Amino acid sequence: MEHVVIIGNGISGVTAARHIRKLSNKKITIISAETDYFFSRTALMYVYMGHMKFENTKPYEDWFWEKNNINLKKGYVQTVDTKNKALHFAEGDTLNYDKLIIATGSKPNKFGWKGQDLKGVQGLYSKQDLDNLEIHAPNNKVCKRAVIVGGGLIGIELAEMLNSRNIPVTFLVRESSFWNNVLPDSDSEMISQHIKDHHIDLRLSSNLKEIVSDENGKATLVIIEETGEEIVCDFVGLTAGVAPNIDFIKESDIETNKGVLVNRFLETNMPDVYAIGDCAEQHETIGHRKPIEAVWYTGRMMGEVVAQTICGNKMPYKPSHWFNSAKFFDIEYQTYGWVHSNRNKPEYETHFHWKHNDNTKCITIAFNTNTNEFLGINTFGIRMRHEVFDRWLTEKREVDYVINHLREANFDPEFYRSFEADIQKAYKNKMATA
Ligand SMILES: Cc1cc2nc3c(=O)[nH]c(=O)nc-3n(C[C@H](O)[C@H](O)[C@H](O)COP(=O)(O)OP(=O)(O)OC[C@H]3O[C@@H](n4cnc5c(N)ncnc54)[C@H](O)[C@@H]3O)c2cc1C
Repeated sequence: MEHVVIIGNGISGVTAARHIRKLSNKKITIISAETDYFFSRTALMYVYMGHMKFENTKPYEDWFWEKNNINLKKGYVQTVDTKNKALHFAEGDTLNYDKLIIATGSKPNKFGWKGQDLKGVQGLYSKQDLDNLEIHAPNNKVCKRAVIVGGGLIGIELAEMLNSRNIPVTFLVRESSFWNNVLPDSDSEMISQHIKDHHIDLRLSSNLKEIVSDENGKATLVIIEETGEEIVCDFVGLTAGVAPNIDFIKESDIETNKGVLVNRFLETNMPDVYAIGDCAEQHETIGHRKPIEAVWYTGRMMGEVVAQTICGNKMPYKPSHWFNSAKFFDIEYQTYGWVHSNRNKPEYETHFHWKHNDNTKCITIAFNTNTNEFLGINTFGIRMRHEVFDRWLTEKREVDYVINHLREANFDPEFYRSFEADIQKAYKNKMATA
């Protein structure tokens, strides 16, 4: 019987296993060095914040795997021998595969800062990171101040987590406004203000120079590159992005760049070896998408697609329109299609921005200046319907249509009863002065 081995028990690896099981009776083994069972990484913050127990982050009961005849193996794969189709484990044993799926996810970036490996310095990615956070930042007596380095989606989650335990946070952000390498300036400025409103000591245009150790090898202060300022702290969170977790593959014959290189069928250069999820890098980008997509739903989609291919129904990875969502403290964020930052905006892309006076709600709509085609929307503090924007993007609706039908896309009719006229008036004014 063909043996499919999957390295990684995250959303992508587990989705692949579930779908292969639905489609076939192949032998399946999932390997992980992290946890015995699949858990929802996106829920880690809620465990620390006391909203749920770690046990509740497991989407499947522990008996699910045996019942579905999916073998689970705990262990760290150290080398992949594609000639003999064998995996060698750090623990000393070996496992053979007929088909191999690499689904090893990401790891937090470390840019060679002095002190980056001290005690009390860590990323926020794994179950081990959560455990270490409980050791080094359980409360504001053990941790009198935390410093977070890197202002992306994981950085802001960490800020919210520490804040929930009343630990003072200094947040070092390289950009001149929070996440303005991704968000248009107007959106980014509102979020920067919101972060400050939560009493986070937000330091913009600030880079980490060095983390200094105490006599026990534990972080005790950080030095800021630009000013030389020293900030005394007990915990340093490194959240300057993630990179594919593939160091162990570099010595193999499998072609890699930043991630494991794959074609549209998620096949690597080696026969019977596939890569999916955060660790996969597309040879050719798909539309405006990045070659590496480190988000939950794309990992799930890749898992579904690779299962089809492995079970004889060869299928390309063809994601639909881009979307994503996150939360910045109290403000929910959703994005559909493409709304580029001021730095990355193509010449033809124009933005219409509306913000509510209370500084917790805004929208930015991107459209093509020449054709008026709707290109994408960012919404903050307003929940929208995915399927409506997906449809409008497919139908290539004009921006006027979108503005006039926003109510259809909105989850909260009350909001639109109050603000629709204001948004439409602002849009008309913008068009009149354009
Ligand atoms: C704090 C946090 C919050 C997030 N929030 C969101 C969100 O709100 N929305 C969203 O879309 N995305 C979010 N993400 C990103 C999302 O969680 C990832 O895109 C997704 O989990 C990646 O899934 P994956 O299956 O590719 O890899 P992973 O979930 O990383 O799983 C890979 C597994 O493989 C194991 N592994 C790696 N190498 C080896 C080896 N050599 N041997 C054995 N095992 C190995 C790893 O230990 C890990 O368990 C968040 C991520 C984090 C860290």
